[in-house]
Amino acid sequence: MPQLSPRVLNLKPSVTVAFMNRAKNMKAQGLDVLSFAAGEPDFDTPQPIKDAAIAALQAGQTKYMPTLGDVATRKAIADKFTTENGIPGLTPDHITIGSGGKHSLYVACHVIFDHPPHGEQPHECVLPVPAWVSYAPLVELAGGRIVEVPTTVESGFKATAEQIKAAITPRTRLVILNSPSNPCGTMYTPDELRAIGRVIHEAARTIAPDILVLSDELYEKIIFGEVPHFSIGSMPEIADRVITLNGLSKAYGMTGWRVGYTAMPGEFGLKFTNAMATLQGQMSTNITSFVYPAIRTALTQCAPQVEMMRQAFASRAKVINARLSRIKGVVNAPATGAFYAFPDVSSWFGKTSKGGKPVRNALEMCNAMLEENLLAFVPGEDFGGCGRNHVRISFACSEQQIEKGMDRFEEFLDNLR
Ligand code: PLP
Repeated sequence: MPQLSPRVLNLKPSVTVAFMNRAKNMKAQGLDVLSFAAGEPDFDTPQPIKDAAIAALQAGQTKYMPTLGDVATRKAIADKFTTENGIPGLTPDHITIGSGGKHSLYVACHVIFDHPPHGEQPHECVLPVPAWVSYAPLVELAGGRIVEVPTTVESGFKATAEQIKAAITPRTRLVILNSPSNPCGTMYTPDELRAIGRVIHEAARTIAPDILVLSDELYEKIIFGEVPHFSIGSMPEIADRVITLNGLSKAYGMTGWRVGYTAMPGEFGLKFTNAMATLQGQMSTNITSFVYPAIRTALTQCAPQVEMMRQAFASRAKVINARLSRIKGVVNAPATGAFYAFPDVSSWFGKTSKGGKPVRNALEMCNAMLEENLLAFVPGEDFGGCGRNHVRISFACSEQQIEKGMDRFEEFLDNLR
């Protein structure tokens, strides 16, 4: 029998995608499934963005282009990071454009990490958990080792600067931060991020000279609390160590377009960007050519559409936060960003569902809920840390569906014995 790579065979498939697909299949069979599984806005891409891509396609922009994108688009992204995020010292040469945030993250991980020579310890990536399911597999695939920093629902799933400091060693190469967070739906305050930034600055001068930060800001525009979004890459003392990751998927309703980008200023930022170009040049080359004008249109002309979507998410967050706060035995940190609620449901573990299924953990709860109540949440185990006690509810759907889903959730819990 031919052999396949153990590295790939051992990769965990995404639990989010698994539940999303199961819900879709059940719907296709005619079942009235309510799905809260997909990490994807329910809004269509704004028309001016579509028009820009169509015009470029009609004009024949269909050939290979520079690996990291044309200068005009890289400049539009550099301008966005400079003016909106306050990241200093950026030029188009500090920008990479890849096929989605996930692809850019994959390339970045391979540029930062390597498999250690035989007998040596891997380099480390500090990761507050629960965290998005792709960080750990991608870092490990590149040869790094994850050092988890546990957080709790009581603290809004935020790691403190002290915790990050304690996790850093001479082998630390990367700290991943994600605010607003998938799966937690919470955000760090600017002061909390500044405190973490000071820890990074100090660690770089003392025990971890190779330390970098990857700040995943894909949800920066979907925020609805008092807290403003803050880019840690705007801190001048560490700006040259911060890779800021963003993309169009979440804020612009463009998950299917596959557009992600990174920014890293300074002299090392140029080296990093060139290394990204070398690897991406052997992987996929440029993204779809006629998408570049659409990126520029999104970034420069679509603020009103983004604001309309933000307001809808804010209103939905109010509904789900209120409903979850009233459900017995459920502990929820109110969502302030992204479109996820991540309640602790562990007080219900150990019971049996109406249909006789044991509910010993989040996975069993989500399985039973999908099969018996036609309600799809994502079990929290794969997000790491306390995630095993939680379920992720993506509220990228109508308020009516949220109310109906919460009714079914309550009914499921009420019937547990
Ligand atoms: N980062 C976070 C936190 C995410 O939740 C996602 C998608 O779910 C991504 C990055 C990647 O998104 P995309 O590859 O669509 O840009």
